[in-house]
Amino acid sequence: MGLSVFNTLSRSVEPFVPLDPEGEKVGLYCCGPTVHDFAHIGNFRTFVFADIVRRYLDFKGFKVRHVMNITDVEDKIIRRVNESNKSLKEYTSKYEEAFFNDLEALGCLMPDDRPHATKFIGPIIELIKKLEERGIAYRTNDGSVYFSIENYRKGGNCYGQLLNLNLDEMRPGERVSSDEYEKESIADFALWKSRVTEDGEVFWNSPWGEGRPGWHIECSAMSMELLGPSFDLHLGGEDLVFPHHEDEIAQSEGACLQCDGQKFVKYWMHGSHLLVEGKKMSKSLGNFFTLRDLLAKGFAGREVRYLMISAHYRETFNFTLDNLGGAKTALGRIDECTSKLRELSAGKIASPDNDSKLVTGFIKAMDDDLNVSAAWAAVFDWVRNTNRQLAAEGIDNNTAAIELANWDQINKVLGIQIAEQKPPSEILALAEERQAARKNKDFARSDQIRDELSAKGWTIEDTPKGPRVKRA
Ligand SMILES: [Zn+2]
Repeated sequence: MGLSVFNTLSRSVEPFVPLDPEGEKVGLYCCGPTVHDFAHIGNFRTFVFADIVRRYLDFKGFKVRHVMNITDVEDKIIRRVNESNKSLKEYTSKYEEAFFNDLEALGCLMPDDRPHATKFIGPIIELIKKLEERGIAYRTNDGSVYFSIENYRKGGNCYGQLLNLNLDEMRPGERVSSDEYEKESIADFALWKSRVTEDGEVFWNSPWGEGRPGWHIECSAMSMELLGPSFDLHLGGEDLVFPHHEDEIAQSEGACLQCDGQKFVKYWMHGSHLLVEGKKMSKSLGNFFTLRDLLAKGFAGREVRYLMISAHYRETFNFTLDNLGGAKTALGRIDECTSKLRELSAGKIASPDNDSKLVTGFIKAMDDDLNVSAAWAAVFDWVRNTNRQLAAEGIDNNTAAIELANWDQINKVLGIQIAEQKPPSEILALAEERQAARKNKDFARSDQIRDELSAKGWTIEDTPKGPRVKRA
């Protein structure tokens, strides 16, 4: 049995078959962050989910091209840029850098392409021109360009593929210019927004005059430019289903670039919301966390990652600080078991046993629409059995090496055991200097070096085998 996934388009679990006739290449696009502030842990649930999808496809032998865009121009950003008196680039680059640091701390693999909307203005304009030629986009008096849902539908297209919309209640001619709007206000949406005073210096020239793109068209242009007019997987949080993803389909299929009978995207996958302490996250409730808030409380990135992938991606998940503590304990059990195996394997390298209970149990669970709960059950059964065997009769080094290889293979998908980072040479040099100072009983200098290391994010642990430098 192969992988099946829940496709929002059909509202059902379908076998995953890539568009590539060879069945190898997979194009995956996930809507990335809008870099107007630090991303919160609700945002990161989506990105960790995308990371698991990408890693599992890798594991299954597909050749994945993972694209995640950076939205660096849209309504919210422009508002913030105005308040900050900074240039668009200056303002967004700070949050973009923070975002990638957080992504790394959460053990996510870097997407292969990380396109910026502001670098794709050319393809965005071309796409709008195509919609205009096809009579689906129209200009308004102020120099903006809107998408006409009525003309799109007249052409035989369906608006409302991802969710059922009551289009009869739609009032023709009504328009919405903001990037985010509610289901109740289904209306023609902006593709190009003409320059207004509040936009300041954020504008580009276009056939319709100075202005900037709408948010939805950015993703259509970037995804099709990099993955082609039809690609396999489009991911995002469920809050993006409407209007963002519905509009992406309308723009991309409205431009009619796909081959006959093909859709813009074959499988749409959406991750559910994250509640924090049982409630929707909000600054006023005090349950609003960015990743850095949690790291400052002493939690580790991999603990947050573990908790985010402990529940199925389509389940609303209640994230609490209590169960983040539980994540530490659970990871500790896995670490203890694998470090015993590592010790016993004594450096011996073995190939994984793909018929083992751990590997087959894991694959069976993940093939079923990424059923992580069942996958974790297979992992913890394995931990329990291995511990029992270790305590009873012991494990020889060959078996230990195979068990470890099985685990390493699975961890390539779960990504919760990150290989320890080797300290850079300047850090090692400081550690050696500290050793020398201690030998000379120069404890003041030794303490000073310890502080210096800690300021650089490293700690030193004195073990019976000598000092060990590790990430703080
Ligand atoms: Zn998007």
